Amino acid sequence: CANPNELHMKPQTLGTILIVEDEAELRFILAVHLRAAGFEVIEASNGADGIERATQDPIDVIIMDVGLPIIDGLTATRRLKENPKTANIPVIMLTARSATNDVIKGLEAGAQEYLLKPFEVAEVLARVRTVFRLASAHRDLDRLNNQLEAEVDAKTRSLQVLYEFMRDLNHATGRDEILDLFMRCVQQTTGARRVSLFLLNDAANLLVCERALGLDYKQIPPMSVNEAQGITG
Ligand code: CA
Repeated sequence: CANPNELHMKPQTLGTILIVEDEAELRFILAVHLRAAGFEVIEASNGADGIERATQDPIDVIIMDVGLPIIDGLTATRRLKENPKTANIPVIMLTARSATNDVIKGLEAGAQEYLLKPFEVAEVLARVRTVFRLASAHRDLDRLNNQLEAEVDAKTRSLQVLYEFMRDLNHATGRDEILDLFMRCVQQTTGARRVSLFLLNDAANLLVCERALGLDYKQIPPMSVNEAQGITG
């Protein structure tokens, strides 16, 4: 290892999986394979412990057995789905091949996926990866949606300001009123804290500050306009 600091760094994991399974041997096999595949694994042996771990630790996916002591897997899943803190954690339900009814109950309780016991480890890994991909696609979609909504909101606000500007412009009676409207429209559509407006004087040799928002326009000195030097001041 070229960098000695890297020796002390925690290896990057693909995510954290909580296994809630009362059969110690099965839990062990699942944990070994999931760790080998790059996941961090937290274990619980009953439904109550499972709920507690899911509420306290940052968990990405839960593998939940149906038949569990203290609180069964279906009830535990329902409780996790009712809690806003844990509601979005995907649950993969483990059900006995003989109890296919549990699959329906599990999906009704809020599980995303299920695995029928006995299963192949490869099957578990494939299912976990699918759930991870889906969860990350959901997160991307949510982020894009929020971004899009914010953009639409901003555009709607600008259009509203422009609409009001055009409407008020129709009723404006003099130069001062038109300039005031114009300044307000620029400030509202750009969000600028300070806006100043310079107009050319009659002699066409000075740019004079006529209006300012967020600063005192009388304090702003005029700028001279000179064919050779351009605008100075
Ligand atoms: Ca069990």
